[in-house]
Amino acid sequence: MSFLHSADTIVAQATAHGSAAISVIRISGPLAPALVQGIFGSKTAHPRRAHRGNYLDQGGTLVDDVLYTLFPQPHSYTGDHVVEISCHGNPLIVQKILQDLVHRGCRLAEPGEFTRVAFLNGQMDLSQAEAVIDVIRAQSDRALAAAHHQLQGALSSRVTKNIETLLQVIAHLEAYIDFPEEDLPAEDETGPVRTTRELVKDLQRLASTSRYGALLRDGVKTIILGAPNAGKSSLLNRLVGHDRVIVSDEPGTTRDAVEERLSIGPYSIRLLDTAGIRSSDNKLELLSIEKTMDQVEQADLFLLILDATLPHPALPGALRDRLNASNTLVVHNKVDLLPPTSTTLPTWHGLPEVRVSALTGLGIEELENRLQATIDAFNPLACEEFVAVSARHAEALQEAARALETALAQWARAEPAELVASHLREALHALGQITGQVDNEAMLDTLFSTFCIGK
Ligand code: GDP
Repeated sequence: MSFLHSADTIVAQATAHGSAAISVIRISGPLAPALVQGIFGSKTAHPRRAHRGNYLDQGGTLVDDVLYTLFPQPHSYTGDHVVEISCHGNPLIVQKILQDLVHRGCRLAEPGEFTRVAFLNGQMDLSQAEAVIDVIRAQSDRALAAAHHQLQGALSSRVTKNIETLLQVIAHLEAYIDFPEEDLPAEDETGPVRTTRELVKDLQRLASTSRYGALLRDGVKTIILGAPNAGKSSLLNRLVGHDRVIVSDEPGTTRDAVEERLSIGPYSIRLLDTAGIRSSDNKLELLSIEKTMDQVEQADLFLLILDATLPHPALPGALRDRLNASNTLVVHNKVDLLPPTSTTLPTWHGLPEVRVSALTGLGIEELENRLQATIDAFNPLACEEFVAVSARHAEALQEAARALETALAQWARAEPAELVASHLREALHALGQITGQVDNEAMLDTLFSTFCIGK
């Protein structure tokens, strides 16, 4: 796919499809000002001000009574001339306007093309363009905050700073390339070697936020585990706040995994209730248990529900091995049934625990607080500037860090400066992929194709 940006005038519906109070159609490209004049006969459309007008198609038929706003270049989302038309949110009207605009010389936009043009016109760098989609998709306060930070350039500025530092190290090395008779100085704890080492650490730290980034972007995948009848469904219902799952006295009623999205503090959680894990001769149940183990592998967090009135059940070894103090909360349920005198409960392999009653709601707030704290702890840069990178960024950061480590090793062996510099440049190239300073058509195609049309 290749775009003739600025030569083509592109058009798409910018709002969601279907009926609504308003739909917005976005036009970007050189024809935009002439279209305003042609359609609305307005010679003086004030920049960035909404005007009311009758949208008449090329045949002179009234399509709708609309509002239109002209954003002359470069002060627009894409950096080209942009017009936004707000019409009544009827798909038929939208369709007619789009058809008419195509007849007047516009081309229907590809997914993500408006943002792509904005990037190509230098309105934003690549990491900011990616943040646009994160802002649109964010499902929790924290995900939205991270996306806004990235949109405002938090990641770009950190990466740009690293690129500048790296350029200085390269400049230092170039001096030795120009004068090959000079040997590279041995490791110097105050010089470029140390700067490079710090750079590696910083890149690795940034890359380590990708897991937290994924939790924010996709939701925290949390699995409710426990023996049948421990109260898993009741707890899920309590957390979600309505009766989504059937609760029953018969052990093993929850056969399929049920997923619920819920907010815990600033996080979005994907809560999975699964079939009770236990040995069983029942084929259906065994099937569910296998499915559960698949999900266990991919989960971020576990809630192990124990019936406080019963002895602890044994868990399959593979499952037990997945549980640790940073990803598991042991929930002693049904504490309402305990005699008031019983204050201590046997612990479960020393994992963090909380006592609740799914029935009465006792301890649920504490459980939510503990859940939030557990997820907070997934953020490796807790006290620093808020950055949570994507998998694509992490890959580039790690690639850069690896190239720098190779360069450092060569440096330590006093290998030729050209060789060291070539790895430093490799790192530079990898970092450039984050902000888009390195042009790579294939990467851009993949990236923007995940956007929706009109963005
Ligand atoms: P699951 O099989 O683990 O999903 O368990 P359910 O949620 O279906 O609950 C099994 C039974 O235990 C039901 O009769 C629930 O009403 C009951 N139950 C669940 N939580 C509590 C609790 O905190 N206290 C009491 N007294 N009963 C509970």
